[in-house]
Amino acid sequence: MSYISTRGMAPSLGFDDVLLTGLARDGGLYVPDVWPQLTDDDLRALRGKPYEEVAVRVMTPFLQGAIGEEEFARLVRDAYSTFTHRAITPLIQLDQRNWVVELFHGPTLAFKDVALQLLGRLFDHVLAKRDSRITVVGATSGDTGSAAIEACRDRERVDIVILHPYGRTSEVQRRQMTSVLSSNVRNVALQGTFDDAQDAVKAMFNDPEFRAEVNLSAVNSINWARIMAQIVYYVTAAVALGAPDREVAFAVPTGNFGNVYAAYAAKAMGVPIARLIVGTNENDILARFFQQGEMKTSVVVPTISPSMDIQVSSNFERLLFDLMDRDGAAVAATMDEFKRTGRFQVSQGQLTRAIELFEGHRCGQEETLEEMARTYRDAGYMLDPHTAVGVNAARKADLDPSVPIVSLACAHPAKFPDAVERATGIRPGLPRHLADLFERPERVHVLPNDMDVLKRFVREQSRAVRG
Ligand SMILES: *Cc1c(COP(=O)(O)O)cnc(C)c1O
Repeated sequence: MSYISTRGMAPSLGFDDVLLTGLARDGGLYVPDVWPQLTDDDLRALRGKPYEEVAVRVMTPFLQGAIGEEEFARLVRDAYSTFTHRAITPLIQLDQRNWVVELFHGPTLAFKDVALQLLGRLFDHVLAKRDSRITVVGATSGDTGSAAIEACRDRERVDIVILHPYGRTSEVQRRQMTSVLSSNVRNVALQGTFDDAQDAVKAMFNDPEFRAEVNLSAVNSINWARIMAQIVYYVTAAVALGAPDREVAFAVPTGNFGNVYAAYAAKAMGVPIARLIVGTNENDILARFFQQGEMKTSVVVPTISPSMDIQVSSNFERLLFDLMDRDGAAVAATMDEFKRTGRFQVSQGQLTRAIELFEGHRCGQEETLEEMARTYRDAGYMLDPHTAVGVNAARKADLDPSVPIVSLACAHPAKFPDAVERATGIRPGLPRHLADLFERPERVHVLPNDMDVLKRFVREQSRAVRG
């Protein structure tokens, strides 16, 4: 197995390079050239096994021997030791047919931890082999910064600087970042807006000299290793509900199409998945696509599920590659058209193929709040607003009622306490391991929106410069 670009023009790479590269040189995304298979007997053998063991079994074929088996098992155990639930991603029953798989027991209470806790450790391993270091720089409006910081904290070979707009994140979001005092972590409160922060990071990436000097890197959502790590919980959930002898469906609240693409990958590997139900908020480009076969952007609307306020779902390109029979030139032309015009259309045949597996549903703000209230009333279970969009899509799905539907619970309700309180009348408390968040000391550097100052700051933090 090797990794190929969805646009067909970049060299194929091995696992280590795919991990460190992120985006392919031709602008495409890396995918495996063939899907490793889990046979029915392989799946049966995973029944009752701990998450970490399943994780090693599922991910090992993707490593191409780049990491020794025992070493990889150690990395996996270490990554998931930061989770507060023994099952890592436990399965909860809502009613006779609906389940949720909780992905929020990691350090920042959202599903990105599942992939990022492993990613940071994989970076360390590969960089040590190469005797190299990287400097991760990113901008956040509040939510993704903490997951990146938790992924990189205390890593030997990684330094991380995260910029957030001064005074414009919620206190919980800020403290989740600034209370990490590890020496390789720096938080910058930029005197400016989120867009200023994002522009500053872009400018650093567009400066080749600076980029090389600090070995600049990003923890971005198109990294193959993130998809790889997310396949695992689709396998554990399906196996717990009877796979390979029983089909399951998944309902996934979607922004960048990363999480649901991992479900698609699980199916490609042999997990019996009958349907993938995509939930969107008002930013419903994907729901419209699966209804009409046309991808068409519009302006981003801010919602109560902010991690899905996205109009360009970058990981969708990986699915498109398969819908276009892995024709890289066709994908490149389509993505180019999308970039120029904000729209593209697939053929009727391609749409038909897509909707054999996928369906998409939009859930607006009022409906999201109603879903949170209803699920709390009927099952005594609190949904965060992202999860509620998926659970609502599951309700709308057109599917044989004997197939269980697993909704992905992507954030702990306490991450979005205002919406939860509005819907249920109850303000969810932070879990025990974060209960003292408001007493923890913070470290943050307030800096002006000035490129020279920002670059100097990053340079001073970066051990790659000295190394
Ligand atoms: C990132 C995120 C999503 C969207 O996931 P994608 O992989 O980008 O589709 C949904 N919910 C929460 C809470 C998230 O943090």
